[in-house]
Amino acid sequence: MTTVENENTPTKLDFVRSIVAEDSKTGKWDSRVHTRFPPEPNGYLHIGHAKSICLNFGIAKEFHGKCNLRFDDTNPAKEGQEYVDSIIEDVKWLGWDWEERLYFASSYFQQMYDYALELIKKGKAYVCDLSPEETRDHRGTLTEPGRESPYRTRSVEENLDLFKAMKIGAFADGAKTLKAKIDMAHPNLNMRDPVMYRVLHASHHRTGDDWCIYPLYDWAHGLEDSLEGITHSICTLEFENHRPLYDWFLDALEVYHPQQIEFARLNLTYTLMSKRKLLRLVEEGLVSGWDDPRMPTLSGLRRRGYSPAAIRNFCKTISVNKFNSTVDMALLEHCLRQDLNKTSPRVMAVLNPLKIVMTNYPEGQVEELEAINNPEDPDAGSRMVPFSRVITIEREDFMEDPPKKFFRLAPGREVRLRYAYLITCHKVIKDGEGQISELHCTYDPQTRGGNAPDGRRIKATLHWVSEAHALDAEVRLYDHLFAKENPDDVNEGEDFRVHKINSGRGTGGLDAIFT
Ligand code: ATP
Ligand code: MG
Repeated sequence: MTTVENENTPTKLDFVRSIVAEDSKTGKWDSRVHTRFPPEPNGYLHIGHAKSICLNFGIAKEFHGKCNLRFDDTNPAKEGQEYVDSIIEDVKWLGWDWEERLYFASSYFQQMYDYALELIKKGKAYVCDLSPEETRDHRGTLTEPGRESPYRTRSVEENLDLFKAMKIGAFADGAKTLKAKIDMAHPNLNMRDPVMYRVLHASHHRTGDDWCIYPLYDWAHGLEDSLEGITHSICTLEFENHRPLYDWFLDALEVYHPQQIEFARLNLTYTLMSKRKLLRLVEEGLVSGWDDPRMPTLSGLRRRGYSPAAIRNFCKTISVNKFNSTVDMALLEHCLRQDLNKTSPRVMAVLNPLKIVMTNYPEGQVEELEAINNPEDPDAGSRMVPFSRVITIEREDFMEDPPKKFFRLAPGREVRLRYAYLITCHKVIKDGEGQISELHCTYDPQTRGGNAPDGRRIKATLHWVSEAHALDAEVRLYDHLFAKENPDDVNEGEDFRVHKINSGRGTGGLDAIFT
């Protein structure tokens, strides 16, 4: 198993950090480091976003720079305040601080519009009447060049008039677009006169009905970075092909020009990492909400019991590289165990009880035994646990006819009850249907605390509770979201929903709440 990093281990110098370190050394950005985390508020953050958050905020912290939280809220059709609120809560919970630098792309709509007018004046943008289908048709393919739009040769004046008319609502949705005039034969399809603005009569959660044209990602994103003085604009690999366009827009405008750097996004087994698909699970009621504990969302992981430190250590452990791969869910769980092991007090609980009567223990006697609260935390102290003649253990800790490698309780065998005594099983009692209903055991009074005075070897230690003293608890056990390792692995015409979605297991599928 991979060694899990923690808050104290220095962060590896991955390729992004190497670039930042080099730039700091050469004074490329006047030795400033300024990153941003730019979520689109169209869903809740997931563990993949945590990778990006820890990278951007982490770099800012390590290089004594700054990191902005910026909402990329350019598509009113899919975005909303609920998502803004949840994202703010989740980034804070993860332990990061953007100080006063909370920004919204929508605050820059006027500046973006003014920049668009500038591009038109430079003859580098034009208003196009092609429909979305015609635009797609004109774009060509990887092997064939595109065809120029018949509207490409409009004069600057006509473009200015039409674009201003677009802004004041003279046209219906989809009727016109503003496009960059680049090269319809460019080998990179993103450079074939990409759309910068579309007409969309939709209310925006922040700007209301002020705008009926909305900028597209490639046009907007570089401007946001530029306006905020970002130095390293870190994004995921699928934007590598968009970098030439990012650069083209900023060069064409002759404005401050950050450097875009791409890294591989996180994929995890047994779950999905796409907001669109997670939204479908929520909308179709396949999970109880964005914070369903089976979800890979930060709110779901939080409800499931994940700590921010465990998630940060996971992000540090997987590091950052240039190649897409899928990380085993077991590594995330391992990171959680490492953290909880150090911080969580233990209690003993039995989920599927099997009764044991200690035949040589006096009836009515109760004694208090000392149990350590957390073996990994000396400061956590200890508690007293009641022990009596009748206790329960986990049903799966007993086998009447054990196979070779089963070392727990069996007829005639001696095991240790944690913090209590060594016990030996003498008799198996069954009910009318042949089911084991209880065991009769004896305890060895010489072994109080679970120690064998003669040093005899005991191969198993079981947890237990005294039947009369046990408290009821609601226990919620969850499996992975999907039963299948790669839920995107489907036949043609199917989607991830054909796979079995795990419900809970154990005592009715419900967070461990122990008092
Ligand atoms: P999705 O595909 O889930 O909709 P997205 O990339 O569209 O994700 P954004 O809100 O735009 O979601 O993402 C904000 C930031 O988080 C971006 O910089 C994006 O690159 C990064 N990010 C998103 N998903 C992952 C992932 N799985 N691994 C690493 N970074 C990610
Ligand atoms: Mg995105």
